[in-house]
Amino acid sequence: MISENIKHITESLPAGVRLVAVSKFNPNESIVEAYNAGQRLFGESHAQELVPKAESLPKDIKWHFIGHLQTNKVKYIAPYVSCIESVDSLHLLKEIDKQAAKCGRVIDCLLQFHVAQEETKFGFSIDECRQMLSSEEYKTLLNINITGVMGMASISDDPAQIAGEFTHVKEIFNTLKVEFFADKPSFCEISMGMTHDYPIAIRCGATLIRVGSGIFGERMYIKH
Ligand SMILES: *Cc1c(COP(=O)(O)O)cnc(C)c1O
Repeated sequence: MISENIKHITESLPAGVRLVAVSKFNPNESIVEAYNAGQRLFGESHAQELVPKAESLPKDIKWHFIGHLQTNKVKYIAPYVSCIESVDSLHLLKEIDKQAAKCGRVIDCLLQFHVAQEETKFGFSIDECRQMLSSEEYKTLLNINITGVMGMASISDDPAQIAGEFTHVKEIFNTLKVEFFADKPSFCEISMGMTHDYPIAIRCGATLIRVGSGIFGERMYIKH
């Protein structure tokens, strides 16, 4: 039961940790069930899925975009997203800024870091990120607000490996906080942990966990 899964997870969360219910590939009825259980924060990973859901579902839902985002899709989601968790280049951040300005909005963004072993995962390295945050171009962006970092651990059965990777994300957050965001209280989020590893992520300092199948069941994959 979706509502029971939501309650089970949210009741187990320590203060300061919020649940992003990852509703990708799940229909509106399932989202409404989670909504009726009190959930207001949802995650989607495809623009063409987020837009119709945001248009048809209650307006007090906050939508986080969590998937790899192509620059040419930003304009579709800009009116609807409260946070884009998967920013992995200055090029993308500039486009988010431009589209947010067109909507008269400021969009919260998380910087995604590559800490897993798989090459296929996306994200900055710390040096690439430092370079971006030090650039003159970054300083001109007024319609984005960087509120923290996001990371994904390797697909692994070894809790020590996963904990090591999440700890790395937390260390990156601490480093950026000191070097670039010391006077910005809104830089406060660490998004990490999914269905199979969120308890580890919480122990390593997550403030947002992103749980999909643990709430909605195994996904029926639909083609985009
Ligand atoms: C799908 C997805 C999740 C949720 O995964 P589950 O294993 O179903 O909990 C979390 N984060 C990202 C970036 C995803 O794409």
